[in-house]
Amino acid sequence: MSIEQVEVLVPIPILEKFSYLLPAQFQDNPPSPGSRVLVPFGRRNLVGVVWDVKKNISKKDRKLKNIKEVLDHKPLLNKESLELADWASRYYHYPLGDVISYFFPPPIRKGKEAKFAEVKFLELTSKGDFLNIDDLSKAPNQKKLIEALKDKKELSQKAAAAYGVNTSSINALIDKGLISRYVRELSPYKKEEVPDASSVKKKLNEEQKFAVDSIVKSENHNKVFLLNGITGSGKTEVYLQAIQEVIKKGKQALILIPEIGLAPQAEERFKKYFGERVLSFHSAKNDREKVDAWLGASKGLIDIIIGTRSSVFMPMNDIGIIVIDEEHDLSYKQVDRFRYSARDIALYRAKIEKIPVVLASATPSLETLNNSLEGKYEILNLTKRATGASLPKYLPIDLRGKELKEGFSDELIDASEEELKKGNQVLIFLNRRGYAPSLICKTCGWLSNCDRCDALMTIHKRPPKLQCHHCESQKDEPKVCPSCQSNDFLSYGYGTERIEEFLTNRFSQFPVLRIDSDSTRKKESMNEYLGLINSGRPMVLLGTQLLAKGHHFPNVTLVGILDADSGLFSADFRGSERVAQLMTQVAGRAGRDKKPGKAILQSYCPDHPQIEELIKGSYESFAKNLLLERKSAKSPPFTFLAKIQAESANSYVSRDFIKALINKLKKSKAYPKDIRVIGPLPAIMEKKSGVYRWELSVLSGSRNSLHKFLDLSQASLYNPKTSKKVRWSIDVDPLSSI
Ligand code: ADP
Ligand code: ZN
Ligand code: ZN
Repeated sequence: MSIEQVEVLVPIPILEKFSYLLPAQFQDNPPSPGSRVLVPFGRRNLVGVVWDVKKNISKKDRKLKNIKEVLDHKPLLNKESLELADWASRYYHYPLGDVISYFFPPPIRKGKEAKFAEVKFLELTSKGDFLNIDDLSKAPNQKKLIEALKDKKELSQKAAAAYGVNTSSINALIDKGLISRYVRELSPYKKEEVPDASSVKKKLNEEQKFAVDSIVKSENHNKVFLLNGITGSGKTEVYLQAIQEVIKKGKQALILIPEIGLAPQAEERFKKYFGERVLSFHSAKNDREKVDAWLGASKGLIDIIIGTRSSVFMPMNDIGIIVIDEEHDLSYKQVDRFRYSARDIALYRAKIEKIPVVLASATPSLETLNNSLEGKYEILNLTKRATGASLPKYLPIDLRGKELKEGFSDELIDASEEELKKGNQVLIFLNRRGYAPSLICKTCGWLSNCDRCDALMTIHKRPPKLQCHHCESQKDEPKVCPSCQSNDFLSYGYGTERIEEFLTNRFSQFPVLRIDSDSTRKKESMNEYLGLINSGRPMVLLGTQLLAKGHHFPNVTLVGILDADSGLFSADFRGSERVAQLMTQVAGRAGRDKKPGKAILQSYCPDHPQIEELIKGSYESFAKNLLLERKSAKSPPFTFLAKIQAESANSYVSRDFIKALINKLKKSKAYPKDIRVIGPLPAIMEKKSGVYRWELSVLSGSRNSLHKFLDLSQASLYNPKTSKKVRWSIDVDPLSSI
């Protein structure tokens, strides 16, 4: 019997799937789950994805609307991708129709053909084939092309141009009926042989070898590894070699990286091993490149995809391994709309696909560390630096009672100078971009508050402006104080622009590179900076956390952390974990090659237990202590957390919305017993981007109960009667509370 009814997901925030009839003209070539269709929806037509097809329909369904168009006769998503989408939708309590759109690059999502670019080709006609080539002796260009076509059978018009044949010669041959032109889809990828990587392949140390063997042994089944290796211990080398074995079996690999700036470096390193079979995927790619990569991966023409967060949804023909580099990194969690964690999606994807996952980090998240300690993941330890270098020495500098020059102690300046003079590179870390975090009127105390946020606007000098780092709004720096008309201002505190000014003056004979999200806004600039750094010349690198992530700078011997105290007194229960990760990562940029490195930490409270523990112990001992604290406080990962947030133009409207929700849920018979709700409470920064935000935290020792509670909430929130004045969101496993 033929298919009569099709269940379709549409990309709108609605929980249901919609059913349509499949009209007769599509019966011969019906869509299947994972194909796109065009469907009428209200007054619009939408591109939807087929979820299910039915052969028998009930009488009442005969009134359903017809599918307008079948866009794909072969599904674009396989069964595994559909299963992953279904799970993610239920886990994050986000509509399936929206979740599924993450599996497509934008043009495909909008209904464009799932094809590589179409290219003009030339081939011989039979007349051309029988032509005596000497007949063309007066037209040498035409002759050249005919000869080439006899040899190659077909040539793209572009390739013909490479033979020195211009369009008029081509047209002349077409007019004579000797060649014809046609249009065909052309894949930019060829299935190539695995290149010989023996010259780049490092001889592994015992720990690395054990790690590679363990990963390779678990191919074809689902197992999670924590590749827990100190900075510079050769983690990348381990997963490169493990991936090599996977590729040899004809399978593909997906590597997630936290930061687009790391893509060129990673791609280059992978290409040394795997040649042109590697491709990176991130937001800076244009639509054509995104579609090509997506088609290449799903058709199995590309073996290795290296990408940022959203690449976790990349359909692949035969995926054999997933690696998540710097698994602790916050960028894996999307913080708006669909609030997924790419790490956790990857873990589930690996389960469906029955493949191993490698979580690599020198500073694993407490979640991952706990799972490893509980035996759910296998820990692979790399305890030594691969190049034989030792970990950098920490030197705390007590700032109390010291006179500072633009935030620098004499010790840090002298040490920097010494390293630069020795021909080494120095990295200064300050996690704050702009010139100074606030502008103060010295006469009346006026502060540069943002009108839209509970936050101060940062002073920027290049270009000059005040900018809010929470809502991005900007204004000119006032000439006189808006409150008392005085013109006596103080730029309070330090940002990277200000430190750059100081360093450029102080170390005028050396280049100073400022690397933050302002200076790397242009697509190629990060690459240019990396090129300069890799030249190895003595210079000062000054940057935010952008510099802390994963980079390998062999010539950095000194890392200076200007303000080790920032973050120590955070209101977020994850604050300490973040500080420890960031410090360890930044310090870990020092002494990665042959020369030993040190890390200077400037602090007003060097005897703070957290700073002491980091300096004397290790990230691991620090993290284990934190886990004990979390356990006694019953906070994640020992309990499961979700947040429901409401935002609106009025504080009380947001608060009352959450209040009404929880009151309603409490009346439900399905309200789970073993959950704890906290709130409504204002968000840590209540006002942001002009709206007021209130939250409900939901905690439970049982994932199941937490999900039951969220299911109930979702049913109530997605109700058409829900107030339109309020925007709300559900965040499962939230990471930050700003
Ligand atoms: P991680 O990923 O842990 O930061 P990398 O894999 O980038 O470490 O390795 C750090 C440096 O050590 C790189 O220059 C790398 O080429 C080198 N390296 C890695 N493994 C070895 C090895 N077994 N022998 C020699 N050098 C190695
Ligand atoms: Zn004033
Ligand atoms: Zn703002």
